[in-house]
Amino acid sequence: MNTITTFCTECERQVEATIEAVRETIDVRGCAVTDDFEYAVCPYCENRIPEPVLVDRNFAKMYGAYREARGIPQPDEIVALRRRYGFSQRVFAAVLGVGVASVQRYEGGALPSESHAELLRRARDPRFLRERLRDGALRLSAQERERALRAVDQQATSRMDYAVVRLDLLDCLPRGVAPETGMRALDADRLREVVVYFAAHVGNLFVTKLNKVLFYLDFSAYRDEGVGFTGLRYARADYGPVPDQYDLVMAALVDGKALTYREQGDGRVVVAHRGADLSAFSPQEASRLDAVAAFANGFSSCAELSACAHEEEAWRKTPSGALIDYGLARDLRAPGL
Ligand SMILES: [Zn+2]
Repeated sequence: MNTITTFCTECERQVEATIEAVRETIDVRGCAVTDDFEYAVCPYCENRIPEPVLVDRNFAKMYGAYREARGIPQPDEIVALRRRYGFSQRVFAAVLGVGVASVQRYEGGALPSESHAELLRRARDPRFLRERLRDGALRLSAQERERALRAVDQQATSRMDYAVVRLDLLDCLPRGVAPETGMRALDADRLREVVVYFAAHVGNLFVTKLNKVLFYLDFSAYRDEGVGFTGLRYARADYGPVPDQYDLVMAALVDGKALTYREQGDGRVVVAHRGADLSAFSPQEASRLDAVAAFANGFSSCAELSACAHEEEAWRKTPSGALIDYGLARDLRAPGL
């Protein structure tokens, strides 16, 4: 049983409080949120002790569910959105026409007001940001506005329109059974569970590490079974084999609920917020997931794993930018996989 040493103000002494998870439905601004909330309970007077760590965690659950229900970007998504344009909090606040303290609070997990929630929702669309920059954002200098417009225009014209990606999820990726998909049809749910699994089992799963982990999963499966694991296509990038349209794949998978990003050093780490549902996988497939996670954890750094991928014929024999032939999986060198 989980306990926490804390101070009970009723008993006026330090106690070993029991942490109890209680399934509850709580009203958050008119939105009913049902989840397991945790409370520290005094063993003597049985009162609930407002333990800050637990209170914060309960609020994060309530607010997260509320945002999800109302379509409001989660804190990580706001940070990711802002950074995609290279905006500081000050510039982003000026574009939206809100105070910089508000942006700081929302990125820190506070719930936005109704009007600010609407601004944040619309901020997912670069066309909306362009409109704001053209018509307002008076707190920016001419130079700042110019730079911000360039960043927004670049996103607006790319295939990576955030709102569109979220709506269509992975629909625009090829889903057929073909040699370049490892003879497997892409299944978004299956892929999501794979990524949730790796996020929970591979240390420091940077986005740039996940692409290699997926590559080894798919290519080792193809080598052994004649069928890939996920149905993803891979292309040769300068820094290794990478799922084709990887940015789009990640934008679709990292939904702010099961998966989020955590900024770490110069990169983003993929974080899972629930366990993977392995019911869709055979015992053999589950043990492959396990083996690939162990393989990835055997490297002391991302750079080492990267160096390993650069030794693979699948990467070496493929021209830059071209799709990698799954047939090259027969020469996979991955030690121990
Ligand atoms: Zn007590």
